Amino acid sequence: MKKDDDIICDGVTRRDFLKTCVTVTAMMGLPFAMHAKIAEAVETNQNPAVIWLHFQECTGCSESLLRSTHPTISTLILDMISLDYHETLMAGAGHQAEKSLHDSMTANKGKYILVVEGAIPTKDNGIYCKVSGKTSLETLRTLAEGAAAIIPIGTCASYGGIQSVAPNPTGAVGVRDIVKDKPIINIPGCPPNPYNFLSTVMYFLTFKKLPELDTLGRPKFAYGRKIHEHCERRPHFDAGRFALKYGDPTHAEGYCLYKLGCKGPETFANCSVQRFNDTGVWPVSVGHPCIGCTEPDILFKKAIAEKVQIHLPTPPDTYAPVNLKDKGKGADPLTTGVLGLAAGAALGAGAMLAKKLPKDGDHGEEETKDE
Ligand code: SF4
Repeated sequence: MKKDDDIICDGVTRRDFLKTCVTVTAMMGLPFAMHAKIAEAVETNQNPAVIWLHFQECTGCSESLLRSTHPTISTLILDMISLDYHETLMAGAGHQAEKSLHDSMTANKGKYILVVEGAIPTKDNGIYCKVSGKTSLETLRTLAEGAAAIIPIGTCASYGGIQSVAPNPTGAVGVRDIVKDKPIINIPGCPPNPYNFLSTVMYFLTFKKLPELDTLGRPKFAYGRKIHEHCERRPHFDAGRFALKYGDPTHAEGYCLYKLGCKGPETFANCSVQRFNDTGVWPVSVGHPCIGCTEPDILFKKAIAEKVQIHLPTPPDTYAPVNLKDKGKGADPLTTGVLGLAAGAALGAGAMLAKKLPKDGDHGEEETKDE
């Protein structure tokens, strides 16, 4: 019988392994008890073959995976799967590497998971990215044929990324623009959170099917909600307190970054909840606006400082409407409460607080203004 402190692989204890299973179970929005089923599926699976291709990219997605600790996801994942081909990590090179690719492809036909990192150039028959004399286009088409499922990891492989920005000299596109007849699960991000990748692989191993996807092919458990909905700066947004300049007091106070170009209100991702590097940080927490890196129409298409259009960037609609002119004509309960509080303050504390009662079109906060 396995004990929790048994080492199951390269310094990772069974306790670490179970903690990871609980984390991904929670991330996928599954009931707590499902973590046992996920652990069992991972343990009993015969290490499914994974072939990982690199095309037009910076290797940041692989880096993100390898930088995770607590426990080392890279260790867990490398022991859970049989990573048969990965140009950055594999020891072999040249003909040896090519042989591994060919052997895995043949032995696991119809069963392997194909992970793609980077965009695929299509212009001039794809001559702008070649490995081993073959274009990315040829390699992707050949490898996609025998794959059980394809996971484009990162925004480049998912939608084309920076390579596909106008004038797009190499005709770069994402996997879904080329492969039409295979299950594709996009894990966009620049880089993506490694837990999203890990959860997707675990889901596939456990349930033998794809997780529910949104219209852009992303798993809904990770990309189902906007960053803005779970951001720790959201109370400042609702109160109308915005950072106006990097390094000034509004920024130092940790105010909302909307006016510095934060794309959180239009970006679907779980960064504000799952965070990065197992240290609880993510760009907004350290003072940088979200750049919308999981969105094909935002990343590298809208300038970092450009504000996204939202209905009302300041908060009158987030408070119960208070209209003193119509006092007594049937306000809702919350409004009544606000009015009661204001009246009490006026009686008890005098004119000081009464002066701050909202007028029409004023939400009662000292709102920061654009310069
Ligand atoms: Fe957070 Fe950005 Fe939304 Fe402000 S605009 S609350 S910083 S996600």
